[in-house]
Amino acid sequence: MREHPQRTDLRAELDHTDVLWFPAGGGKTEAYLGLILTALFYDRLRGKHAGVTAWLRFPLRMLSVQQLDRTLRMLIAAEELRVERRIGSPHDDPFALGYLAGGTGSPNDLHWDGGWWRGWETEAAATRAGTFAEDHLRDRLVITCPYCERDSVRLRLDIDAVRLHHECAACQRILPLHVSDVEVYRTLPAIVISTVDKLTGHSWFPEFTAFQHGPKHRCAEHGYFSFPRFGVCSAGPDHCTAPKGGYPAARPIKDPVPALTVQDEMHLLKEELGAFNAHYEGMIAELQSGAGSGLPSKVLGASATIEQYQDQLRQLYGRRPRAFPAPGWTLGESFYTTTRPDFRRVHIGVLPHKRRKADVAAIVQGELLTEIARLQEEPKALRERLALHGLPDSDLPRLLFPYEVSLAYVNSKQHGTQLDEELGQLSDDLQHAGLDRVEHAVLTGEVPVPDLAAAIARVQREHLDTPRGERLRALVGTSVLSHGVDLERLNLLVLAGMPPTAADYIQVTARAGRTHAGLVVTVYDPVSRRERSMFSNFLSYHRLLDRMVTPVPVNKYAYFAARRTLPGIVLALLHDAARDPALKPPPEGADYSKDFKRWWSAQRPLLDPWLERRIPACYRERVEGVNGRGLENDLVARIMDTWRQEERPNLNKGAEEKRTAYLFLQQPLTSFRDIDKSTAFQSLTSSQDAFNALATNTADSKGGEDEPQP
Ligand SMILES: [Zn+2]
Ligand SMILES: [Zn+2]
Ligand SMILES: [Zn+2]
Repeated sequence: MREHPQRTDLRAELDHTDVLWFPAGGGKTEAYLGLILTALFYDRLRGKHAGVTAWLRFPLRMLSVQQLDRTLRMLIAAEELRVERRIGSPHDDPFALGYLAGGTGSPNDLHWDGGWWRGWETEAAATRAGTFAEDHLRDRLVITCPYCERDSVRLRLDIDAVRLHHECAACQRILPLHVSDVEVYRTLPAIVISTVDKLTGHSWFPEFTAFQHGPKHRCAEHGYFSFPRFGVCSAGPDHCTAPKGGYPAARPIKDPVPALTVQDEMHLLKEELGAFNAHYEGMIAELQSGAGSGLPSKVLGASATIEQYQDQLRQLYGRRPRAFPAPGWTLGESFYTTTRPDFRRVHIGVLPHKRRKADVAAIVQGELLTEIARLQEEPKALRERLALHGLPDSDLPRLLFPYEVSLAYVNSKQHGTQLDEELGQLSDDLQHAGLDRVEHAVLTGEVPVPDLAAAIARVQREHLDTPRGERLRALVGTSVLSHGVDLERLNLLVLAGMPPTAADYIQVTARAGRTHAGLVVTVYDPVSRRERSMFSNFLSYHRLLDRMVTPVPVNKYAYFAARRTLPGIVLALLHDAARDPALKPPPEGADYSKDFKRWWSAQRPLLDPWLERRIPACYRERVEGVNGRGLENDLVARIMDTWRQEERPNLNKGAEEKRTAYLFLQQPLTSFRDIDKSTAFQSLTSSQDAFNALATNTADSKGGEDEPQP
């Protein structure tokens, strides 16, 4: 459709947001990877020689780890095909994958230290000393080489090229993967994977403008850039010198806007996160419409749990909502999907009496582990139990292997610690009994992404020849593990209490039974009225589970949210303006306040009306009439008041701040969460004793509904 914008029927496709809905494990990822693959080749065939074709977004960073591996493998296969079949031109950029997660799982800029990256000087010294790869074994995002399948991928810093590579020590191939933000701008890879939070990068990193406009320049050594840093390319003055006569202009990229935006686990974009995301998505669509071909990305959502998704989609993307696959004439059947009679999961409900849910969950997980280990020791017992008379002995271990890994799902870190200790105890007990120790791992939101990836990779690659005592057999996890984790061998699941919502329950339980039939044991909380009632209605609850999913609440019209997104959106617009020669921008862009202030005072007559036109467009629906007109108008009116009365006057103040971002009254968002700092409650002296008693008491008797861990 992007090739024929004059065809109104095709153009109208962009006015819809489609959501791919498949039950968990039903092939949703495969469906959108297939679409991305098609778009990759189509873009090359129509002459887009470089730049981003698809941007895949996840609500949480943890979700993207396993998807990164799958996407990378698909991309590598596509690249081989591209070369072999000579698709596009031989001078096109090779397909590559950018993991845009700087600041959390990988470095923003190789010059700054942050997370595991110790800054340029230290890492360069480690490289020269030959210890770099060893130092960063835990920081690899990919361990198993997609080319040769050996676990030999290492990180390598190329000092001259200022590049951080994932490279295979066995087959010597460099993976087409860019994990620092700067390298993503410098290469503009065909697929970008990020969290939704990374949309805030449009305010903080002017090089993000290349995602809409393509790059201005190309440094022969360090790749694309648009705004020179200290007169050189974005590798920086220590690494690059400007060629005589300046850097050449980059070859213009045809239709630089990503053809596809895929939002996975869309149902998680709710409440505050959903509202912030809605405003930034509005901004992205506005930036895209003002660049290249003037066409925004096609937006696709994907989710395993959607209920009354229409309102959520209308608010998030301001376009017409549509679900795929559309239902057929018969329940459970459509042109694209079918329902099969075989079962995936066996559910067992347990309501403890006089014991806490975590204690009982630990017992259940322990029993499952012990029983599987015992059956592995005594194939005869297994044969009797399952009446497997015809099967040779050698086949029995293979039969048990997919049931070796168990996961205990907990709602709080505290219970995670408890189950971890219980597993340690169990491991000792089993060893005393002459059985192998139990390798286990606790995976919560605080576990760094590479550690999470390493645990997942272990379960994937360990096989029957790995000694049992060395195999990872037990996991304890919070909601971190409830999305996107797809492990064939994870089929025993124990829940210490119900997850907060029915949607969460569907997601968590879908971790088991992806290939083989799974067993789910839910230990209900006897203290919670809600959970006791779920136990009493166990059968009907499970039969009607899909209908228990509540609509996702998003309110993009919440003024507090719009107030918070305004500075970031204005700043992103200013970076965008700095790409428009008609607005006479400084070549360095608007990132530094000294450049910005000069531009702002000289070109106010141009910039003011430009912003007056574009800020409202960021907050307004893309397709008119999708949302209520009154709500849309009110939001725009209030936000423009805030701009004119509060934020704009602030930009005129003296430029003490180095970066333009800090000129705003409220700092532009750097993330969509942790916005509210928690407030400590305090008491007056007179009630101090009572308060203390109460505080101690609540801490002691903690039970019932726990706060879910992010
Ligand atoms: Zn290799
Ligand atoms: Zn350079
Ligand atoms: Zn440097």
